[in-house]
Amino acid sequence: MGEDRDLRPGELAIGVEPLDDAGLRFVGRLHTPWTDREACPRQGRQDGPDCRIEVFAPWVPALDGLGEFETLEILYWLDRSRRDLVRQTPRHDDRTYGTFALRSPVRPNPIGTAMVRLVRIEGPVLVVRGLDCLDGTPLLDIKPDRCAYSPKAPPKGADEIA
Ligand code: SAM
Repeated sequence: MGEDRDLRPGELAIGVEPLDDAGLRFVGRLHTPWTDREACPRQGRQDGPDCRIEVFAPWVPALDGLGEFETLEILYWLDRSRRDLVRQTPRHDDRTYGTFALRSPVRPNPIGTAMVRLVRIEGPVLVVRGLDCLDGTPLLDIKPDRCAYSPKAPPKGADEIA
């Protein structure tokens, strides 16, 4: 369940209908050193501690080929967030911002993203650096660094072959 913390000055919560099922499937779990928000970094650093991404059994074949990449994009579900604030006042800031102007975990669909460095793969577990989430956070998806998928230049003379 979300965290229904007290509102801070300037914050605005809205009444939200119970959710429809968006059909998201948790495909694993993130294991990090952080069990409370105070200790958890606000953004991960690739020189941070080793963290472990556990991929659930049916999805392990989906890791094939991932070892070729140094940088991965991880998408996760910030499961302990409240989801009804449209304006927020960050903890260490007196100003109030619209939710979409922040990378706060408090958002209508609390998806977090991090670019991480792949350290090694141990079967169904990826050891990575660069996460910023609480221990046990559900994993939504893993994608290779998008730059690695830039279209390759066609081989020289390719247009003459066909
Ligand atoms: N890097 C991600 C992004 O930019 O989308 C997340 C950034 S968010 C500012 C990171 C913060 O979310 C952490 O410092 C912690 O306070 C909070 N957080 C981490 N894991 C969470 C979880 N499972 N549920 C709710 N809040 C979480």
